[in-house]
Amino acid sequence: MEQLVQELREKGITDPRVVAAMASVDRKDFVSSSFQACAYRDIPIAIGCGQTISQPTIVGLMTQLLEVRPNHRVFEVGTGSGFQTVILSQLARHVYTAERVRKLFVRARDLITSNYRCQNISFLYCDGALGLEEAAPFDRVLITAASAEVPRKLLGQLKDGGIMVLPVATTEWEQRLVTVRKTGGEVEYKEICSVRFVPLIEGTQDG
Ligand code: SAH
Repeated sequence: MEQLVQELREKGITDPRVVAAMASVDRKDFVSSSFQACAYRDIPIAIGCGQTISQPTIVGLMTQLLEVRPNHRVFEVGTGSGFQTVILSQLARHVYTAERVRKLFVRARDLITSNYRCQNISFLYCDGALGLEEAAPFDRVLITAASAEVPRKLLGQLKDGGIMVLPVATTEWEQRLVTVRKTGGEVEYKEICSVRFVPLIEGTQDG
C-alpha cells in the first residue's frame, strides 16, 4: 500500500489532498479474494460483469485533473467497484455516482455503506450519461467509461466554471483522456494522454 502511494507520487500524482485521499482508501477492499495479491499493483483488475477497477495512477490522475474542492458536488459515471467513488467522497461535499449494471451498483453501495463512513454519496442505478436533472448543475463531472463524444446532457448539467474529466474514444482502439472546462458559455477541451477504458453503454443492465 505504502509502495503504491510512493509509485503514485513518482508518476506525477503530487496534489497532497489527492495523495492523502488515495492513501486512506484500501484498494484491497474493492477487489475479489482471487485478486488480493495484486491489489496494490498499478494495473486494472477484473471486478466481474466484464468490467474493471481502474489502474491506480489513472484514478489519481483523473482525480487530480478534476480539481475537487470541499464545497463541490460531483457527478460520477461508472461506479464500478466504488474505489474512485470513496476517494471523491473524501474530497467533495457530495458525490452522485451512477452505475448501469445492477449487480455492480448493489455490490459497491453495500460495500461502501458497511465499510466506510461516507454520508455524502448518493448511489444511482441508471444510465449515467443522462446525468441527474434534479440535482444539477454539478461543479465537477467524472466519467470512467469511454464514448466517442462528450455526453451532451452531462455537459449541459456542468456548472459554468466547472470541469469534466473523461476518456474520449477517437477510434475503436484509441482513447484520449480529456478535460473539459466551461467558462462563460465557452467550452475548452484539452487532451492529456492515451488511456484504455471499457465503453460507455446506453441504458441499464439488470443482472
Ligand atoms: N471507477 C471505476 C471504473 C469502473 S469501469 C472503478 O475504478 O472501479 C466503468 C464502469 O462504468 C463499469 O462498471 C460500467 O458498467 C459502467 N458504465 C458504463 N456505461 C455506463 C453508463 N452509461 N452509466 C453508468 N455506468 C456505466
